[in-house]
Amino acid sequence: MSAFSIPAPATAILERLEAAGHEAWAVGGCVRDSLLGLSPHDWDLCTSATPEEMAAAFGDWTVIPTGLRHGTLTVRLEKENWEVTTFRADGEYSDHRRPDQVRFVSRVEEDLSRRDFTVNAMAWHPRRGLRDPFGGAADLKKRILRAVGDPLRRFDEDALRILRGVRFAAWYGLAPEAGTAAAIHSCRGLLRRVAPERCMAELRRLLCAPGEQLGAVLREFWDVLGELPGLDFLWEMKGYDQQNPHHTLDLMEHTIAAVVSVPAREPLRLAALLHDGGKLRCRTVDGEGIAHYYGHPRESAKLAETALRRLRCENVLRRRVVDLVERHDLWAPPTLPTARRWLGKLGEEELRDLLALERGDTLGHAPDCQPPRLALLDQWEALLDMVLAEGDCFTMRDLAVNGDDLLAAGIPAGPEMGRILKRLLSEVQEGRLPNEKAALMASLPTDPPPAG
Ligand code: ATP
Ligand code: MG
Repeated sequence: MSAFSIPAPATAILERLEAAGHEAWAVGGCVRDSLLGLSPHDWDLCTSATPEEMAAAFGDWTVIPTGLRHGTLTVRLEKENWEVTTFRADGEYSDHRRPDQVRFVSRVEEDLSRRDFTVNAMAWHPRRGLRDPFGGAADLKKRILRAVGDPLRRFDEDALRILRGVRFAAWYGLAPEAGTAAAIHSCRGLLRRVAPERCMAELRRLLCAPGEQLGAVLREFWDVLGELPGLDFLWEMKGYDQQNPHHTLDLMEHTIAAVVSVPAREPLRLAALLHDGGKLRCRTVDGEGIAHYYGHPRESAKLAETALRRLRCENVLRRRVVDLVERHDLWAPPTLPTARRWLGKLGEEELRDLLALERGDTLGHAPDCQPPRLALLDQWEALLDMVLAEGDCFTMRDLAVNGDDLLAAGIPAGPEMGRILKRLLSEVQEGRLPNEKAALMASLPTDPPPAG
């Protein structure tokens, strides 16, 4: 059976173009993913037709001129968008990111030769099969990442390819071939000329790769990550002896262990990467020669904030990551009032993320100090399950009285009412009052008797 299950609209597009006398192929990521037995998340199509010729061939179909200058049209078929791009060769690169101009060409091989890695430089057609001029299928089989052509030149043209390469290595478990690996290292400085938001988009995707593969890739290309805006402190972590009996790993290895141990979600993986940067600034050594890092979560949070701002990370994600970094390493005993208070402050999702971060952090500690910490985290999870199952009150919204109730009892709206509601919530969270309207109202301060 063919590894390719091309969607019907994509086939229809290829057929229309070919019926009009042009050549058309599926290309790039969808070919790579199909050969790996994965299901492609999108199907890029390419053709010898120019955008005008495409539009003529598509007749009454809806087309959107997405990037005419680069030869790209989007076809709307069956409520989905399909990108079709004219075969092209890239002109000179003067900004290390985008070709100054593109030239339409007539052969698919020429189009394939501008693509970044051999595994991404294959075309496939339902009848003609695979077109693979650079040996991408063999590289994929051997799990090798290889630049198309001279890697130094390809990374110099477009430095984002460096990060793409690192990402593909991590996602597909590809080992960069020697020349490609050497060029990734030697060209890494060019990343400074790439737009920070592009770097951030790649970093996010890289960090969500499967853990086992990701760990090896982070270790091999740690120097590359240090080139990203605000992340140069990562370089210092490599070989940094933590000089503390809780740690057998250097700071880089500890961080990698934390990253690969947390679930593959962006806030958690980013928080794990950034959680200990502040240790580099908070070191004190006691009389026994043991190093301590008091206050490092706060310092790490500052570094994370700066880096994520420089990387133009969107606000919601940045706040979540910085918050997790700042709150890590708390180790409060699991008690009902604490659980309710934290749930009220963080909400379930972030609190569970925080516990997951602590777990990942713990798994990067010396083996003999892991069991008690893991046991504590298990207790925390169990306690949360219990509190949530019982629907215990933990936010103002869940409180059995609200502002209207207080108004009705003669308390005017304003700061005093806010203070009273906060106090009631805290009484309920601490378990001193039940979350019942009558009991809460009865606890309100009684009015002083009217004067006279
Ligand atoms: P995924 O969509 O899973 O990230 P992909 O390989 O499809 O992987 P896209 O960014 O969608 O990546 O690009 C589609 C194709 O365009 C790639 O497979 C590659 O052939 C080519 N390509 C994309 N970006 C570059 C680049 N910076 N330099 C050279 N070729 C590129
Ligand atoms: Mg793609």
